[in-house]
Amino acid sequence: MHLSDILTHLGEDREQYFNAVAPPIVQSSNFAFKTLDEFRQAFTNELENHIYTRGNNPTVAILRQKLAALESAEDALVLASGAGAVANAVIANVSAGDHVVCVDAPYSWTKILLTKLLPRFGVTYTFVDGRDIQHIENAIQSNTKLLYLESPNSLTFELQDLEACANLAKSKGIITCIDNSYCSPVFQQPIKHGIDIVVHSGTKYLNGHSDVVVGVICSSKEMIQKIFDTEFMTLGGIISPHDAWLVMRGLRTLELRVKRSFESAFKIAQYLESHPKVEKVVDTWLPSFPQHELAKKQMLGAGGLLSIYLKADSIEKVEAFFHRLQRFLLAVSWGGHESLVLPSAGFYNIPGRPDSTTPWNLLRFYIGLEDPDWLIEDLEQALEII
Ligand SMILES: *Cc1c(COP(=O)(O)O)cnc(C)c1O
Repeated sequence: MHLSDILTHLGEDREQYFNAVAPPIVQSSNFAFKTLDEFRQAFTNELENHIYTRGNNPTVAILRQKLAALESAEDALVLASGAGAVANAVIANVSAGDHVVCVDAPYSWTKILLTKLLPRFGVTYTFVDGRDIQHIENAIQSNTKLLYLESPNSLTFELQDLEACANLAKSKGIITCIDNSYCSPVFQQPIKHGIDIVVHSGTKYLNGHSDVVVGVICSSKEMIQKIFDTEFMTLGGIISPHDAWLVMRGLRTLELRVKRSFESAFKIAQYLESHPKVEKVVDTWLPSFPQHELAKKQMLGAGGLLSIYLKADSIEKVEAFFHRLQRFLLAVSWGGHESLVLPSAGFYNIPGRPDSTTPWNLLRFYIGLEDPDWLIEDLEQALEII
């Protein structure tokens, strides 16, 4: 289905609600039945019928259809956060005694799920450098049930060869799951490469306006039903109908936003790469990126994130550079309308916390929807201080 059709029309049964162009927010926790027969019939399928909003809600259901189609998946679930989506998808596919192979440096709370929460229930893990399929293959054990990928990750952007990972996992009966937040479905559709489950922090590009926290799981009907029947319904981490409606409003401009963000970020990456005060720029779309060829093979574009290493001989110089920036907000997260900077130096000298292992001269930028030249002007004047 065409991207435009998905974002503008799919799932919207307008005749059901006065031909309204925007879908209604069905802000109801439960749904009533006229007869016991209808009641009984509804319970044959809690995921599709309208019984109770923890299981299914008409507003959320429209969003589910759009998200599934965006990832070329059969179905999707919407959760209260990206972390919730990751946890539901992972927990649904492991039992005590099982083992997970996960790429190095996944999203921080994914790492805690694997290293702190799941070991309490007898699930073990191995982290591997996923840039080389051989490392992944070597880490697989007879009890490995899940291969967890994040390609690219959201700080240093290492990639995995999705097709090679999917083929390897299939040959060993292992489920594959990928965090596709970085690319969004506009630039990468892992299911087309043979990956089983796609998760998103919809907080980032899918909603795209820095005003909703939301997570998404996309997969086969069978897998979605399996997650729904146990983890989704018991852990209960659902989104509100109102937030689902906001995400749909965000989705209307998904393609525009992601492409704008990507084009501006690429322009800025090229500018920074040629700047004498910048030691290195890490951006998957630059030919200098070590896995650039793989990026071009499996992605249609890169998105708005990039990292730089400043040529600074002290953390104070990095701080001075940061404090001169006027047009970037200091904040975590990304994928919204606003440009952001996240200096690794901010994770040094936090009382009661060990210093980051990421070098202090690394800064991650997220390029939002502003004029890239206006952002470059700001970088230019801030770099003068170094
Ligand atoms: C933000 C993020 C998450 C977590 O999503 P939340 O919506 O914040 O729970 C997971 N993966 C990646 C890559 C992220 O950037």
